[in-house]
Amino acid sequence: MTMTEPRIDWDATFEEALATLRAYLRIDTSNPPGGERAACEFLGGILEREGVPFELYDAGDARVSLRAALRGNGARPPLLLLNHTDVVPVQREYWDEEPFGGAVRDGEVWGRGALDMKGLGVAELTALLLLRRTGQPLARDVVFLAVADEEAGGRRGIEWLAEHHPETLEAEYVINEGGGGSTELFGVERPVFTVGTAEKGPLWLRLVAEGRPGHGSIPHEDNALDRLVRALGRLQAWEREPDLSPVLAEYFARLERAGVYRGGTELGELTQTAERDPRVRALLTNTISATTASAGVKHNVIPGRAEATIDCRLLPGVAADDFEREVADVIDDPKVAIERVFAGYSETSAHDTELFAVIEAVARELVEDAVVTPGLTAGFTDSRVFRDRGAVAYGFSGGLTPPELARTVHGHNERITLDGFRLSCQMIYEVARRMCAA
Ligand SMILES: [Zn+2]
Repeated sequence: MTMTEPRIDWDATFEEALATLRAYLRIDTSNPPGGERAACEFLGGILEREGVPFELYDAGDARVSLRAALRGNGARPPLLLLNHTDVVPVQREYWDEEPFGGAVRDGEVWGRGALDMKGLGVAELTALLLLRRTGQPLARDVVFLAVADEEAGGRRGIEWLAEHHPETLEAEYVINEGGGGSTELFGVERPVFTVGTAEKGPLWLRLVAEGRPGHGSIPHEDNALDRLVRALGRLQAWEREPDLSPVLAEYFARLERAGVYRGGTELGELTQTAERDPRVRALLTNTISATTASAGVKHNVIPGRAEATIDCRLLPGVAADDFEREVADVIDDPKVAIERVFAGYSETSAHDTELFAVIEAVARELVEDAVVTPGLTAGFTDSRVFRDRGAVAYGFSGGLTPPELARTVHGHNERITLDGFRLSCQMIYEVARRMCAA
């Protein structure tokens, strides 16, 4: 028996999705404090009108997450469409449009969260609504999960759900943020969809140097600030060996075959590229960024204590304990204490899966000359929780973003192109439809 594919009126669907996105961007879910209840009430209102059952999960203080599901015949485990409803705060004075206004200007939708990640959230919602309206038989449940608190580590969002309602996270496959669709990469104009299959692990450390206070007119050897500066200097001078993880080897090989990356795929050649390109450097090595420092009370007083924070990002497979020990060896000063503030780790998802094959097929059908590759995400997402539980979780937005807009994520003037958003809606729907067709 062959099923005819339901015909979708994409012009009307896009108009509706755009109106939803603009209204969603007007809800200020800056985290802190988050206040994701308002976002869930908005999404819940839409689901209710469409007759899609959903539940709210309240972690307290208006930190609410929402889960909706279309039931399949149970032949296969669920496909889960994951998104977060919170956004990072804005510095309003640097924006050219109201950050919580949802303005449309020159073919772009403006607003905090347009890319990270209310745009993809609405694309996922649209896929769910289309599957519902067309009444297609489903071989598995399709779950829409909108979580709170991603931008602050998920303790009131995904981590809270994993602890209190683990049944809400059941899935074989997860689609989430953390992938990038670019109109241009390495200076070459060609549509490239990077499916995030692996992530670097954050390790946040505080360095605390202790010394002896004294008068600034009589320098001595036990100045805590001097000690801290020496420690940071050693970390800066520390040359860490680049390492080509299997995901990256595949990434560069695919981009080279597509003529997008031309610098050579041997580790030595990639290392040369990394010297010119901080983005490539971040993918090949464990990185350290010094992020804050504080010491002293007065211009003429030698401080007895000095502190700095460093943000380390570790390659897949590197253990935080091992790296922290290396940091201590490099600093080589017992009067500089190292305190761990936060560590996160994500397993890697394989890319020889049904979901990856479907994404590749859909991308090539909908976008001429599309290149699809697995990739390593320098950031850190909620996908880790699902990978821990054995699911295959991918970062995939389905949209295409020009590099100058991609840079607005967590920055000023965040915005998404209308074309990129429309493509995202089509791709997520079509991928979900094929993954769930009975
Ligand atoms: Zn995000």
